[in-house]
Amino acid sequence: MADAKGMLRSAAAVLAGGIIYSALTWVPLVGPFATGVLVGWWTGGGFLKGLRNAAYAASLGSIIVFYMIAAYGLPPAGTQAPINLVFLWMLLIWNVTSIIVAGAGGGIGALSRDVRTLIPTNLMESLSQHKPRKGVEYRICPSCGQGNVESAKTCIGCAKPLK
Ligand SMILES: [Zn+2]
Repeated sequence: MADAKGMLRSAAAVLAGGIIYSALTWVPLVGPFATGVLVGWWTGGGFLKGLRNAAYAASLGSIIVFYMIAAYGLPPAGTQAPINLVFLWMLLIWNVTSIIVAGAGGGIGALSRDVRTLIPTNLMESLSQHKPRKGVEYRICPSCGQGNVESAKTCIGCAKPLK
């Protein structure tokens, strides 16, 4: 399903995921994980695709977070230069960890979507495979040689009861 529509959906999920991430990253582990699950579930396509999309979204979210800090400045507590550096380092490590966590969430999200969509598909397949087979199995009428559907009680050629 690597069509243009799927790619567009992935791009939209990454973009939306990035924005959600920038807001939820402050909730330790749960925030990035929830973002990842959301992105993965939205895009689907298996564990690796979900992981990749969620990691992209989290990376984008991290860029948004760093951009916001660059644009609006650090919290008042971090006005001194050494504290700034420590704060930025912590933020960097925080976001790298969050990207990994979001990736794991994305993989799980994509998997859970696949499980949900695979069940009806398999059911439909088994039904559509079973139906034509019933029609193909014929019973030859012993009186006139007419082929009848296996489940037929009477012959469609001579109307005599079959078996
Ligand atoms: Zn017959």
